[in-house]
Amino acid sequence: MTFKELDIIEPIQRALEAEGYNTPTPIQEQSIPILLRRKDLLGAAQTGTGKTAAFAIPILQHLYNDRHRNKDRRKIRALIITPTRELAIQIADSFTVYGKFTGIRNTVIFGGVKQGAQTNALRNGIDVLIATPGRLLDLIDQGFIRLKDIQYFVLDEADRMLDMGFIHDIRKIIAKLPTKRQSLFFSATLPPDIIDLSRRILGNPEKVMVKPEQTTAEKVVQSLYFVSKKGKPKLLVHLLKTIPFESVLVFSRTKHGADKIVRILTKANIKASAIHGNKSQGARQRALGNFKSGETKVLVATDIAARGIDIEELSLVINYDLPNIPETYVHRIGRTGRASASGIALSFCMHEERPYLKDIQKLIDQSIPVVEDHPFVGFEPDDTSGKSTAQGRPQRQSRRPSSSSSSGSNNRNKYRKSYSPRRRN
Ligand code: AMP
Repeated sequence: MTFKELDIIEPIQRALEAEGYNTPTPIQEQSIPILLRRKDLLGAAQTGTGKTAAFAIPILQHLYNDRHRNKDRRKIRALIITPTRELAIQIADSFTVYGKFTGIRNTVIFGGVKQGAQTNALRNGIDVLIATPGRLLDLIDQGFIRLKDIQYFVLDEADRMLDMGFIHDIRKIIAKLPTKRQSLFFSATLPPDIIDLSRRILGNPEKVMVKPEQTTAEKVVQSLYFVSKKGKPKLLVHLLKTIPFESVLVFSRTKHGADKIVRILTKANIKASAIHGNKSQGARQRALGNFKSGETKVLVATDIAARGIDIEELSLVINYDLPNIPETYVHRIGRTGRASASGIALSFCMHEERPYLKDIQKLIDQSIPVVEDHPFVGFEPDDTSGKSTAQGRPQRQSRRPSSSSSSGSNNRNKYRKSYSPRRRN
């Protein structure tokens, strides 16, 4: 299958070629024909599957084909709502890249920064608006934005929107949209409250399900390190000094924890920066920019800040803390298994986190292989002396979560082999 066979117009095909996209990803192959027929779509897909292009390409194509209607005074005809600023910026970048030969203009608005530049861009006239919910409502209330000409509406990362408490904002936004429109709804997971929300937005949608969450876990090589709280910083420094990697995303459950990790690494002469909600937008963009350019090789992030960040060639993810929501683990390790690349995910687990580990292994239907020979293995479980103890050694990971003992994925044993960090000479 090629983009040409999907009936993509030449100016967009040219842009995709320039980006090195040779073949559509499964979600693109399935969604683009539906969207070109102007049908509503319910898409179950996570970031990393190519879903941005799956909705951006058909929207650009419709707007391009109808461009004569919006020549004089540009009105906003497509609206994309997404939960985080980083994701909004990435989506806008994608529209710019795929639409560079179409003349279709976009802008992005999000909170946490002054609104002047954003309102100026809006005044100049745009076709596509990418927004986070709060700033959008704010600028609507101030009279800078009207939604009455919207023909294409995308709600992206719907499950995360609800997690982040955006439901009221979303309802308000939907109420302002014209009823005659094409609507697209994307979510990584489809629990009942998401299905309920999708019904409020979509007419009679076609459904596309691509890569259920669990399959990400199958293409990422995962390893588990049992370690105490005190052993975690030492183990992190040890791994970063011994494993060869291009770039690593380290996950911390809390903002405070993320800052602390950066301090530990800085002390160990490892250049790192943190990205989380307490940082200013400028600081977040700088940290992300330095990471993407390779200047900083270690980025420490909280889950919300890391959500949707698209970093090419991210080879390694370290879960300094295990997440208490098992799906979050899959999202995290998915950072390293994007589009077609595969990667490595190393997770630290202290005694108190074992219940989280159990839930994660149940969800992914796999036992994460344990690295048993790391130097801090004895710091277990409540070590305060800093000395290794034989009793502290973790149990071998032969136990499998009880729920996955008899049936399940064929890939379950695929990554059983422990990952042994290679040493740098
Ligand atoms: P997304 O799920 O939209 O965040 O996309 C994940 C990554 O896949 C991004 O880096 C895209 O640039 C890339 N990508 C999207 N579609 C394609 C394609 N057809 N071929 C190659 N890379 C793609």
